[in-house]
Amino acid sequence: MKKINEVKRIGVMTSGGDAPGMNACIRAVVRTATYYGIETWGVRRGYEGMIENEMEELPSGDVGNILQRGGTMLRSARSKRFHEKEWRQKAFLHLKENKIDALVVIGGDGTFRGAHALYKDFKFPSVGVPGTIDNDLFGTDLTIGYDTALNTVIDAIDKIRDTADAHNRLFFVEVMGRDAGFIALRTGIAGGAESILIPEAKTNVNTLIRTLETGFRRKKQFGIVVVAEGDDEGGAFAIAEKVKEKFTSYDIRVSILGHIQRGGNPSCQDRVLASRLGKGAVDALVDKKHDVMIGIQNKNIVLTPFDKATKYHQEIDPELMHLAEILSS
Ligand code: ATP
Repeated sequence: MKKINEVKRIGVMTSGGDAPGMNACIRAVVRTATYYGIETWGVRRGYEGMIENEMEELPSGDVGNILQRGGTMLRSARSKRFHEKEWRQKAFLHLKENKIDALVVIGGDGTFRGAHALYKDFKFPSVGVPGTIDNDLFGTDLTIGYDTALNTVIDAIDKIRDTADAHNRLFFVEVMGRDAGFIALRTGIAGGAESILIPEAKTNVNTLIRTLETGFRRKKQFGIVVVAEGDDEGGAFAIAEKVKEKFTSYDIRVSILGHIQRGGNPSCQDRVLASRLGKGAVDALVDKKHDVMIGIQNKNIVLTPFDKATKYHQEIDPELMHLAEILSS
């Protein structure tokens, strides 16, 4: 067993929006820490729990049978108070009181901003693990929960296609993505969408109508338009209304997939990703690396400083945009 001196006890927490695979990551953190002879404490409800001193030992046995479950056994929360230094100080004092030497924080860029603030204020070390269904984080090809969310959306789109086909309907399917269109783009391609509307690309309703008319002339019996919730022309309801006025060829319906996209058992890919990143985060702390996000790039584990990981976003792949356009024409 590898021995280390500095880090004797680490904390692990989940924060921000929950994502399937967070439990698998918690398990990997605890089991890896145990392997190195490090004790793990679980912090409940993210930074809110840290402020309220909701933390206790999380032994290896307590993370059994969670690998396959969605959600997070540690719960998650958003904490307005943590934006203020006085509350971060309270949280820091609780970490010290409980003799926690370092943290693994699982969440999105907001979570990493919080951990970075804790480091800037009190030099408290953390490693971040990307856990968000949106896959919009810089410094990693994939985030925990993304693959599961994609599979959930595809399953829903396939079902919607059946009913769309039966009734000659055009469906606007809204998927999650307030600021990012990764879920919409992938599922739009995989679900054979007529059009994919995402925040990263300007939406033109007239162009959309022309695309739909082309399909109609080719005698398409039904249609699917995938809309990311943060599209610049509005959500699926707003865009469907605008289209309805000028395009009367189909019966138009809207389906908002909503929170089902967050839940469910993590896919095999998410479980493996979460396990690798959870282990990698503990490895990083053992190697005295901190104030960084761990990620995966070209199948390799990489570390990106928090200030960089929170400054930039992952870019949409133009090749996929082009592919979607060609295949729907
Ligand atoms: P998701 O991508 O799913 O929304 P997230 O981690 O980005 O996840 P946020 O709500 O943005 O979710 O951030 C989680 C928490 O991190 C916030 O509720 C807040 O407590 C803390 N946080 C975010 N930004 C900062 C900041 N600049 N300073 C201190 N704490 C922050």
